[in-house]
Amino acid sequence: MAPVHPRPPGTGLDISGLTKTFRTRTLRGGSAVTALSDVDLQTSEGAFLSLLGPSGCGKSTVLRILAGLEEPTSGTALMNGQSPADLQRNHELGIAFQDSALLPWRSVESNIKLPLQVGRMPADDDLVADLIELVGLTGFEKAKPAMLSGGMRQRVSIARALVVRPTALLLDEPFGALDDMTRQRLNIELLRIWTEKPATTLMVTHGIAEAVFLSDVVAVMSPRPGRVVEVVPIDLPRPRTPEMMRTPEFHAIHDHLSGLLFGTASSEHAVAPDSSGSSDRAAVAGAAEVVGG
Ligand code: ADP
Ligand code: MG
Repeated sequence: MAPVHPRPPGTGLDISGLTKTFRTRTLRGGSAVTALSDVDLQTSEGAFLSLLGPSGCGKSTVLRILAGLEEPTSGTALMNGQSPADLQRNHELGIAFQDSALLPWRSVESNIKLPLQVGRMPADDDLVADLIELVGLTGFEKAKPAMLSGGMRQRVSIARALVVRPTALLLDEPFGALDDMTRQRLNIELLRIWTEKPATTLMVTHGIAEAVFLSDVVAVMSPRPGRVVEVVPIDLPRPRTPEMMRTPEFHAIHDHLSGLLFGTASSEHAVAPDSSGSSDRAAVAGAAEVVGG
């Protein structure tokens, strides 16, 4: 839930002058790819920001830098005033990627506990049970990933991201590989979870509708080298409901973002800015009935 007294921008996500150049060595010598060029992004603590942009524009690179998996060439990237290394050290960072990357030999329960074991944190069986319930997997505690659907595996991955009680959450196209209907149900679930356990969140997505539905702020990036083209505040009230996706306000923001994406994507990098937009909305409207909305 949005804080009652929002804290100023920069207390949540605080990315400043972020530049990343990858140097690659080939047989004929070296070459350099500038993936990010002078990216600035600020949000207040506990805010949900989505990052939209064409493939290859550096979205995952931003996320990987925040996760401490890549070093920036220059600039800084903080969440809640902490560096990636501090966030990791303090076990305050939750991460979920498109590919749920579960360990196949471990059960649902045991996959969710993994970050606690890796971080040498105390086992918290009550929390694990709560998370399993929160993501709707009660009854599947002992199931192995191979027995689960794609949507269920992503729920495990979200629960695993939350098990450290993160104050900062990084989601890289967490529902990108799922069909529209499943994706929209998981969006509604993610919204509920995030509202119960708010964390400063950065989500990379290709879905304009899901970005608008979930976020406080949507940032649109240009094709490589990635720059932030526009930061769009999403002023829709909270709590959000799927019905809001049918309002003129929602459509206006959706159209504006589509325009930015079409306007900035070169033909080479053209991204279909959520070609499923209208079916997204229909699916969410359907899912609303499923969740009793
Ligand atoms: P996105 O997530 O927006 O699709 P990425 O952040 O994955 O984009 O990649 C941005 C650019 O940086 C791409 O051109 C990609 O090929 C390049 N890139 C990413 N990681 C590496 C790497 N480890 N080595 C070399 N180039 C990379
Ligand atoms: Mg990516």
